[in-house]
Amino acid sequence: MPKFLTKHVITILIVILAIAGFSALLASPFDKTEEVSLSKLVEEINNGSVTQIRVEGNNLKIILEDETKQLSRKEAESSLTESLVNYGVNPEKLGAVNMELKREGGMAYWAGAILPFMLPFLIIGLFLWFMLRSAQRGTSQAFTFAKAKAKLFGPQGKKQDVTFKDVANAVEAKAELLEIVEFLKRPKKFLDMGATIPRGVLLMGAPGTGKTLLARAVSGEAEVPFFSISGSEFVEMFVGVGAARVRDLFETAKKSAPAIIFIDEIDAVGRLRGAGLGGGNDEREQTLNQILSEMDGFERQTNVIVIAATNRPDVLDPALLRPGRFDRRVVIDEPDIKAREEILKIHAKDKPLVKNADLHVVAQRTPGFSGADLASVMNEAAILAAGNNQKTITQNDILISIEKVLLGPERRSHVYSKREKEIAAYHEAGHALVVNSLPHTDPVHKISIISRGKAAGYTLKLPLEDKHFRTKTEFVEELAVMLGGYAAEKGVFNELTTGASSDLQKASDLARKMVMQYGMSDKLGPVTFGDREELVFLGKELGEQKNYSEGTAQEIDKEVSKFIASALKTAQKIIKERKEKLQQIAEVLVKKETIDKKEFEELMAT
Ligand code: ADP
Ligand code: MG
Ligand code: ZN
Repeated sequence: MPKFLTKHVITILIVILAIAGFSALLASPFDKTEEVSLSKLVEEINNGSVTQIRVEGNNLKIILEDETKQLSRKEAESSLTESLVNYGVNPEKLGAVNMELKREGGMAYWAGAILPFMLPFLIIGLFLWFMLRSAQRGTSQAFTFAKAKAKLFGPQGKKQDVTFKDVANAVEAKAELLEIVEFLKRPKKFLDMGATIPRGVLLMGAPGTGKTLLARAVSGEAEVPFFSISGSEFVEMFVGVGAARVRDLFETAKKSAPAIIFIDEIDAVGRLRGAGLGGGNDEREQTLNQILSEMDGFERQTNVIVIAATNRPDVLDPALLRPGRFDRRVVIDEPDIKAREEILKIHAKDKPLVKNADLHVVAQRTPGFSGADLASVMNEAAILAAGNNQKTITQNDILISIEKVLLGPERRSHVYSKREKEIAAYHEAGHALVVNSLPHTDPVHKISIISRGKAAGYTLKLPLEDKHFRTKTEFVEELAVMLGGYAAEKGVFNELTTGASSDLQKASDLARKMVMQYGMSDKLGPVTFGDREELVFLGKELGEQKNYSEGTAQEIDKEVSKFIASALKTAQKIIKERKEKLQQIAEVLVKKETIDKKEFEELMAT
């Protein structure tokens, strides 16, 4: 039993008890009056001194001529007249007495009658309540979920202090959202025109592109309160709690309309219903249904706009996208070079940067970085500068931070043996040499045998510009680069290490994609194979429907092997022909551990 239910039951019980006790007090003004026996009463009646008898159940309230009051009780089995006659009342005198029959049913009576039966339930109820309370304190806050709580950004229902100024670029998204701001600010304008206020806006974009930021900015621009929940919060809840929370949230928001409700990561509850593994989706479904029915329940003039964000619009339940729900969709693109520079500028604003810092160069070096990545680059740079007791952040601090964000922090503590270091150096040199020898590869940015994150060493290539299409030639050369490390190890030491295994994995994946998805195999032609089915639970490609024959499967394997074999041949040829260069690079690497772009180019020029 959820907390709010137990709580209500207990409140009701307490109220009943209080009323019963109170009315019992009120109902007994006769308490302190004299009690008389039935025979005494008969005597009084026969005397003619009784003016009124009020009958309440078995209780008799007697009023005498001189206004004194007396109490008496009749026998339970027989009626009052019967009893009185038995005691020898004078019927004439009795007729003169004003008899008043009060129906049994006063509060006190009922409470008196029911209480004995209720008591066990009451005790059980109290017991349950205490159990639930301690469970709630002990294990989780599961039971407090029913009330939508402030979660993400400070107090729930507060106007956000972020505006569109704080969001770089995203021009189209801002333009679309400006309309929503107008709706929130001047609903009358639209209602007079007969327009319906939009109910839902779906923000779609890769992680870190600023969806949450934009939603908050809409609240800031429109100066309306912001209520937010995150879809992922619902996933681990008990059935029914999520739905109750949604109901609460919408209720509160409607009360403070105009308002914004922000549902972050809606894909966590809004995934295609019925998909996923096993049971346990009840909660999600109930929560989703509640969101939908709340949105359907909006009146035409309800000035509450639901903004939801997702990075997986492909897995959303179509019910969410029907008209009257999230029928406005705003796509937020990953930032291009100009946008990256603007985002960097925003995050540099409150940081002391050296005068000649060139954020354009930083933007050039960070293709594929999201807004969040860039924010974190600037933050890392600030941390670095502060750690070195600098007064300002230098360009170099920022450039170092790019790698940190890209690869994770350096692990200088990792110690190689001398031979391990040599092998690692030749391995990386092999990659770099192949990159240098082929025309369609991205230039080497840095080579290092300092392990970072998971990688033991790395050869970093960075594209000169953002790329939207890749060509077969590029892929073929990339395969050769991937196998460069393997080829070098084998060519120099005539021995293989486990260091190349992730390279081989990546190369096989790429070759397989070329054959099966991109139609780049000459033999099999422009066909795709396999219905890639995503396991929606994990958002990963796990299963693959085999829609081709065994024979084709063998052909595919052959083609994949052919790509790999030819790439290896290319790599081996380069390693063999330029063995002195390989040795040169490797020796510098062993000595200095890292080679940057300039050094590498100088090394190759000689
Ligand atoms: P999402 O919700 O899309 O995953 P967020 O809105 O949480 O991304 O963005 C994370 C952080 O990245 C923001 O707090 C902000 O610092 C930064 N950021 C992302 N996009 C932008 C942008 N366009 N302009 C400025 N900062 C941005
Ligand atoms: Mg977010
Ligand atoms: Zn490698």
